[in-house]
Amino acid sequence: MRLKTRVFLSLFLTFIVSSGVIFFAQNQNLKEIKSLVEKDIYEHRKVEIEFIIEQKGKFLLSMAKFLSTNKSVIEAYLNDDPEILKREVEPLWRSLKEMRFIYEIHFFKRPALSFVNFANPLSGGKDLEAFRKDIAMISKSFQPSKHFLICRSYPGYRVTYPIIYRDRLIGSVSVGIDLNVFRDFLKKLGAEDVILALNNKELKRYLLPKNYEKLSSKGKIKEEFLLISDMDHEVDLTDKVEFKSNRVYSKYLIKDIEGKKLGYIVVVDNLDTILKSIKKSVLYKTMLSIFMIYLLFFFLTLYILNLIFKKIEKIKKISDLLKEKKFHMLPQKSEAKSKIDELKNNIIDTACELEKHINLLTKEIENYKDKAYIDALTGAFNRHFLEEYGKLLFEKSRLTHTSFTVLLIDIDNFKKINDTHGHDFGDYVLGELVKRIKSVIREKDMIIRMGGEEIAVILQETGLENGYRIAKKILEEIKNRPFVLGSKSAIVTVSIGLSEPNDSDKNIYDTIKRADEKLYIAKKQGKNRIEI
Ligand code: GH3
Ligand code: MG
Ligand code: MG
Repeated sequence: MRLKTRVFLSLFLTFIVSSGVIFFAQNQNLKEIKSLVEKDIYEHRKVEIEFIIEQKGKFLLSMAKFLSTNKSVIEAYLNDDPEILKREVEPLWRSLKEMRFIYEIHFFKRPALSFVNFANPLSGGKDLEAFRKDIAMISKSFQPSKHFLICRSYPGYRVTYPIIYRDRLIGSVSVGIDLNVFRDFLKKLGAEDVILALNNKELKRYLLPKNYEKLSSKGKIKEEFLLISDMDHEVDLTDKVEFKSNRVYSKYLIKDIEGKKLGYIVVVDNLDTILKSIKKSVLYKTMLSIFMIYLLFFFLTLYILNLIFKKIEKIKKISDLLKEKKFHMLPQKSEAKSKIDELKNNIIDTACELEKHINLLTKEIENYKDKAYIDALTGAFNRHFLEEYGKLLFEKSRLTHTSFTVLLIDIDNFKKINDTHGHDFGDYVLGELVKRIKSVIREKDMIIRMGGEEIAVILQETGLENGYRIAKKILEEIKNRPFVLGSKSAIVTVSIGLSEPNDSDKNIYDTIKRADEKLYIAKKQGKNRIEI
């Protein structure tokens, strides 16, 4: 089998097998993904929200810490001069606000007196103790705090840091971001919508009326909550996760510094969109694994096919050796690891048996030569010999798939030779004829006197074409030189009929019979000729 065919066959097998595997795996994969998404979506969103809060918190904390230890800030406090603060912190505030990193920087003097507020300069000088529980707490603990809080201007997330000078608390600084920042972030992470569900009573209580109005105009009231969202949702806030048609609502509770419930951040996910995006990313990965699987199967199949074809080629070589009867070149039997190996070993066994049998036959044929099957007058074999030898020769020819050629030779007008020169001369011609034939043929070929002046020559392992060449030589050898005995001399000619065994022959006599028919034709057509 040619390499190209092997490669195509490998590709074809690879395609069939791996397509099946991939199709099955893909289906299982999608089923699993769907159930995983349903199970894990809430946990996933919760981790995401906590991560954002933590990251924002860290940033706000480092900002607040930086401000609380800043030299100019301390100087402003010590000199009770808000102008120093405004001048020194303004540039930082502007750039951070522009980048939407920070919504508010608010400096307090103890206990909760607003010193400078960059987000809302109007609040400077006001006592906000009732609204800023965090400031009051820090005054006692000296510890920074991170928390959600609704104050006069917006609901947000804040970090508050104590400002300490020579172990004495001189004030605090609060940096904050609006809760909407979380909405924007979560939407960027692929949420279909994010709802801020805020406790309406708390909003009303803490926000300045104009700020409350502004905020509530963007949302809608549902029971005790003000819902702020891009789309309309019928969401029930009692369970932490809710499935409605193809949407998933994951609710994250937010509490203030005292543990009071401020509301929820509700992430709305569209299950179809999630599955689609997962499918897409799975598809890329699957494509890669499909390619790898194809490659693997391809080389595996090619390898296996090669192994098989190598073995088949070995067997073909053995069969070629058998055809040519080169028994001595047969390989040794090897350990049978497969059915093909077993087949190979069987062939080698059979070949060995055959070789033994053929050797036996050859030996027997040699034996017959020595036995008394010789015609006394001519020294050729007699008919009796043909009885025995013919069988063996015929069997050997069948086993070894080799042919032989029969030459049936008859002296032309022998009766006349007898009549002209006498019977003794006739006898001499017969003997001389056999000698001349012998000089033309090989050692292993046989001359058999069939009776009277009819002689058969059997040329072993010789086809008709070569047989014809030998017959011609014999014809020439006889007619070209006169037969001379004492004063008697005669030109002798012969007619020859040729045949070789065919598939329908049952024994050597069937073959000889066809040579006889040819001989008859040769005689009919004028003698001294060969018919094939
Ligand atoms: P054709 O060309 O048709 O073969 O004619 P032919 O005369 O050779 O054939 P035919 O069969 O008519 O004659 C054969 C002769 O061979 C007859 C027989 O006397 C003779 N013959 C047979 N055996 C011997 C033998 O051992 N010695 C001698 N000298 N003659 C023999
Ligand atoms: Mg004759
Ligand atoms: Mg005759």
